Amino acid sequence: MAERYAVIGHPVSHSKSPGIHRAFARATGQDIEYVALEAPLDGFSRALDAFRANQGKGANVTLPFKEQALAYCTGCAGRISERALRAGAVNTLSFEGGHCQGDNTDGAGLVRDLTRNLGVALQAKRVLLMGAGGAARGVVQPLLEEGVARLVVVNRTAARARQLADRFPGVVGCGYKDLPAEGFDVVVNATSAGLKGELPELPAACFGPGAFAYDMVYGRETPFMAFARQRGAQVSDGIGMLVEQAAESFRIWRGILPDTAPVLADLRRQSA
Ligand code: NAP
Repeated sequence: MAERYAVIGHPVSHSKSPGIHRAFARATGQDIEYVALEAPLDGFSRALDAFRANQGKGANVTLPFKEQALAYCTGCAGRISERALRAGAVNTLSFEGGHCQGDNTDGAGLVRDLTRNLGVALQAKRVLLMGAGGAARGVVQPLLEEGVARLVVVNRTAARARQLADRFPGVVGCGYKDLPAEGFDVVVNATSAGLKGELPELPAACFGPGAFAYDMVYGRETPFMAFARQRGAQVSDGIGMLVEQAAESFRIWRGILPDTAPVLADLRRQSA
């Protein structure tokens, strides 16, 4: 019988995760079923308990439940990976053998998309990370592990940027008005501003010569992407991160890292 997996969020009907995981399963010969489950805003744990009781083997967790997923793992004495603890958020749950395990694959997804798919080397680069929410928290450690020379976290609510930066030696946190006057090699937008058609108050000078601008939002040209393009930066949306973080979840569950290139190419064709 096919083993059952799901993505749980609210809303979740727009999620591309079922299509991505089904494609991975076909390509690797894995017999799995993967569905989208919408949990009520006040009913994440109940929805997860019901899914587990119904032979659920693993789940991806998306907005707005990633922090609740960490609390869920803690509550059932589950094992939580170092990277999920550092992110303060879980996006991948496994229920093998009745035990709950929590992980966070967002950072690995971003780094793989940048370095392997887009050819953006991070070693010794100056990186500006916009945002201090769940997505930003998940990528700080993986960016540092790539050997970046400098990492500045900037956020609309400056105190949140400082709190996040303070957890990592050498990382600087500030508000947009206090951004140091310097050009960065890589600017990663981990805010949800693009979903609302908004542009954070980013100074044009933040894009250094040959800069690369990455928006985690996908499937649309955001004001950030247009702004960066006008300032000469190379630009990408976050669809590759979505596929790469899914591949890492698939590896955790099935022990096989699927080839992401055909799935990513298909998604890019569909949104062209
Ligand atoms: P979140 O926890 O709600 O955080 C949202 C962040 O965006 C906060 O830092 C917030 O600043 C900032 N923000 C929102 N509107 C803004 C505006 N108009 N100007 C400046 N800053 C603004 O959300 P999240 O989980 O971190 O997700 C952030 C985005 O990443 C979402 O769009 C999500 O879809 C995307 N994402 C993509 C992937 C992928 O695989 N491609 C993975 C994860 C997340 P304040 O702190 O001041 O409120």
